[in-house]
Amino acid sequence: MRLVDVGGRLIEVQVRESARARVVRAVFRYGDQAELVVPVGTSGRTVDRALREYAPWLARQAERAPEPVLTLPPLTETQGRCRARALVTETAEEEAPRIGVVYRRISIRDTSSRWGSCSSSGSLSFSWRLALAPRRILDYVVVHELCHLVHHDHSRRFWSLLAGVRSTYREERRWLSDHGWELLAYRPPHDALGDV
Ligand SMILES: [Zn+2]
Repeated sequence: MRLVDVGGRLIEVQVRESARARVVRAVFRYGDQAELVVPVGTSGRTVDRALREYAPWLARQAERAPEPVLTLPPLTETQGRCRARALVTETAEEEAPRIGVVYRRISIRDTSSRWGSCSSSGSLSFSWRLALAPRRILDYVVVHELCHLVHHDHSRRFWSLLAGVRSTYREERRWLSDHGWELLAYRPPHDALGDV
């Protein structure tokens, strides 16, 4: 974690090595947090230079970071996981036959950057925080992951399959890019003892 001074304001930047990264890039998350994704083995000097270069951009992003607009249901994490599992399962059971796919199992996680994922063995995982989102957003993420059982990438074929089974997907993706940070920033109240 590095602190970058952008015109008197400190922004936390998480520096993360990624095997998939080919170039250094910065990602602004929410609040005062950003991430610098670098290829594995990037030198400290390159990181320093990138942080200097990105500072003005980070400052602009921090200024633009929106105020929360959603009223989130006051779920504890246990309640959220429970609700996410029930809704995700319901949607997956309904949508999988329609798309013509079979999944193996569903797990619910607390992920910081992905709403859902799909393994090559057919296991699906989802963020419990989708329970905080409107139902159509959760449904979109489920359909998105089910489509990955056909195409394990974000190729043109993947998006055209998705468009065919979920015509509203563009709007739902936009919702996630506008409001997803609010779901991630949500700090659930503690679960009562024994409520686990
Ligand atoms: Zn995807």
